Amino acid sequence: MTYWYPGVIMAIKLLKEVYPGVPVILGGIYASLSFEHAAGRSGADIVLRNFEIQKLNEILERDMDLSPENILNETIDFSWYPKSRYAVLKTSLGCPFNCSYCAQRLLNPEFMLKSIDKAVEEFKILYGMGIKNFAFYDDALLLDKKHITGYFEKILSLGMPAKFYTPNGLHAKSVSGEIAGLMRKLDFIKPILSLETTDPEKERTWHDKVSLNEFKNAVSFLKEAGYRHGEYSAYILLGAPGSDLGETKEAVDLVHGMGANVSLSEYSPVPGTSMGEGFLDAMAEPLLQNNSVFPALRSSDWESAQGLKNYARTLNSTWGFPSPDPGANGKVIEGEIRV
Ligand code: SF4
Repeated sequence: MTYWYPGVIMAIKLLKEVYPGVPVILGGIYASLSFEHAAGRSGADIVLRNFEIQKLNEILERDMDLSPENILNETIDFSWYPKSRYAVLKTSLGCPFNCSYCAQRLLNPEFMLKSIDKAVEEFKILYGMGIKNFAFYDDALLLDKKHITGYFEKILSLGMPAKFYTPNGLHAKSVSGEIAGLMRKLDFIKPILSLETTDPEKERTWHDKVSLNEFKNAVSFLKEAGYRHGEYSAYILLGAPGSDLGETKEAVDLVHGMGANVSLSEYSPVPGTSMGEGFLDAMAEPLLQNNSVFPALRSSDWESAQGLKNYARTLNSTWGFPSPDPGANGKVIEGEIRV
């Protein structure tokens, strides 16, 4: 998200024109991950990183409960989106893992769960507004088995048919037979498992969130639950430092051989992550954190990378469903909604 900062600068400029003399406070992902850049360039009077949010009380001379628990459970005012065709749901905050390419630890406190009743209530409000498509934005949606099965069972018992999407990817190690069955009953459309690599060495050094065996087990559970080939997907990281395209193609072939739709996510360096550390230019200029720049690939590899993306699309087309179309943020999902 950091590379969208020109929009932030424009919005702040506009606010200062409309509300002259009113101080502007900037927070969020760009402010947290590219703090120096935001402080120097955004035009905001005050820039706060996520971990500094308590300072808002001092600045505004208020006594608000700004604890992560309260923010997570706060009811969102959805009335600002009266005509939305889809809505975003979150049942938890953060993730206990610490993958080398991901900055969630800098953005979120420890992993915490929203109360099931609150999460179900939000779904009901949105459903009552006519929304039938829901995308989960949790970083670790399935991680707490008791919590998520309780939530899924409650949603199912409401008898409110809807479609659910998982653009952030799911932890394969959390997919059990019971959870896969509930996902199928609830109509999860093309659930995406985050795999990233099939190379055992990279599995160890990049992350501890998934192994190839856990991925295989998750696929078996999804199939047992009724998902056919091409009705579930896997994210594979493309162009990460130290990976070569031949190895990525092997992962694509392996995943396709297990009946999964392949979704290639182009690597982009994220400030504050161990994998992003070597990209000094990109750390100084957030525009270079855009995945379309392919910063970790030699320019001579760009054509081959595009060829690999086309190859994955061709494989996906054999399932007879619309081909995935990874968009600007690499997290576009097919079907009725685009997140
Ligand atoms: S599991 Fe996902 S959300 Fe958690 S640290 Fe890894 S990439 Fe980030």
